Amino acid sequence: MGHELVQISPTGLPPANESGLGTALQALGRAMSAARAELSRSSSGPRTFYIETFGCQMNVHDSEKVAGVLMARGLRPVEKDEDADLVLYNTCTIREKAAQKVFSRLGAFRKASRQAGKMIGVLGCVAQQEGKRIFARAPWVSLVCGSASYTRLPELLEQVKAGRSRVQGLSLGTSECFETELVRRDKPFSAYVTIIEGCDEPCAFCVVPMTRGRERSRSSERILADCRRLVEEGYTEIQLLGQIVNHWQDPAPARRSFAGLLSQVAEIPGVRRVRFATSHPRYFTPEIVRAIENHPALCDQVHLPVQSGSSRVLSRMQRAYTREEYLEKINCIRSARRAISISTDVIVGFCGETREDFEQTVALLDQVEYDQVFSFKFSPRPDTAAAGFEDPVPEDEKRRRLAELQEHQRVIQLRRNQALVGGECEVLVESFQPRLQQAVGRTTSNRVVNFPGRPEWIGRYVQVRVTAAGPNSLVGVRADQALSGGVGAPGAIATCTVDGRKATAARRV
Ligand code: SAM
Repeated sequence: MGHELVQISPTGLPPANESGLGTALQALGRAMSAARAELSRSSSGPRTFYIETFGCQMNVHDSEKVAGVLMARGLRPVEKDEDADLVLYNTCTIREKAAQKVFSRLGAFRKASRQAGKMIGVLGCVAQQEGKRIFARAPWVSLVCGSASYTRLPELLEQVKAGRSRVQGLSLGTSECFETELVRRDKPFSAYVTIIEGCDEPCAFCVVPMTRGRERSRSSERILADCRRLVEEGYTEIQLLGQIVNHWQDPAPARRSFAGLLSQVAEIPGVRRVRFATSHPRYFTPEIVRAIENHPALCDQVHLPVQSGSSRVLSRMQRAYTREEYLEKINCIRSARRAISISTDVIVGFCGETREDFEQTVALLDQVEYDQVFSFKFSPRPDTAAAGFEDPVPEDEKRRRLAELQEHQRVIQLRRNQALVGGECEVLVESFQPRLQQAVGRTTSNRVVNFPGRPEWIGRYVQVRVTAAGPNSLVGVRADQALSGGVGAPGAIATCTVDGRKATAARRV
């Protein structure tokens, strides 16, 4: 499997010394090995690395690729920053809070940076946005690199290794995508594949075009070759990624459409599930819905950020669609031959949003009946169009509107999830909670399901009977055991929270 290609023990350290040497001897041994490690660090550059990631799925996958680049050059991943020669921090600046976290976290790395030969690097959107200012605020940082410069990472790392202290990759002018020889995949059954990088949309609130550079699409040949290899390596779920994933434009002679690409990925033998995010309503076509209808491997799920239910606000946001045009796309999805779950992103309190605008957004939630809503309070970002707009909505009011919208959506989600109780669904098991002896996975509609299970089920598809539902997850039992008794520790019960109280699977197993 692909993850085996890069499978290196998480710490790579030899077992702890249990030979019973005297304390003094042990201390001497520790001191000597620390000295040896420092000597080897300073003489041959970093040998181990640690990456901490904030932000979206694209950031998570960027970190997987950066790890691949490092491992291809012989560096070994470690699980704790204190054990790493090279500490990389992949950052997000989509909202101010995320950006603020970066400097407090960098403060925590300061002490570690005093270790001889230890290097600290900042990657991602804050690196791009703050650039050289990072060196001024955190002089212990030796590398700053934005995602549009990741193709230069090997060269930049060589400079760091050669002892240069302020190495930077901050150009946004690339037309290349970040291709890597190896990717360290964090999940052995589900793999991200980037199909388009950067963003050319002029959304007034969004910092992404300034941090990730111009749009550039990978060729259909490369994407399909990646997907075929992933299947050979044992992955069954493919998640296609891009800031505006459905604006992908094939640079290859085949000139496939986005819907055509979805179909081709779904037709690869061995692919059981295909997801894609994030779609922009402007480029969302009926062909995408037809592709989902015709290919069972394309998941019953579309994430279609609306941002606001008011056409007036949408126009100020420069989203290039009205409420009515957005609802036409929703009607198209709802008219599909199989039920497709719809999720969205909403920003409340955008500059000049009136109470009436906000109420239109709440009414839209009722009209669409989303299965999931990611909602945010508007956060002004530097260099965006909205940074220059007047923002008369007080913070308190934004907070109140956010809470109101979330409560409204919670009721919708609870009702929609409870309608599934008694039915069955196929769940891809993603993790196992030993304390509860509970398997946790997702349905094709992206709902989280908890049910009594076993750790070896991770990566398997299990048919589950839904027995209870909360607003954010379902509870169930394995369908073939729903009648005959269960699996897991004796007395294990699956749980989720409904209205602040614990809901449990209908029967003990
Ligand atoms: N590129 C995608 C798009 O345009 O739909 C997703 C961009 S972003 C990673 C995810 C979400 O963050 C956006 O859909 C939006 O709801 C939210 N967001 C972006 N900028 C924001 C801001 N300045 N304040 C609050 N939320 C923001």
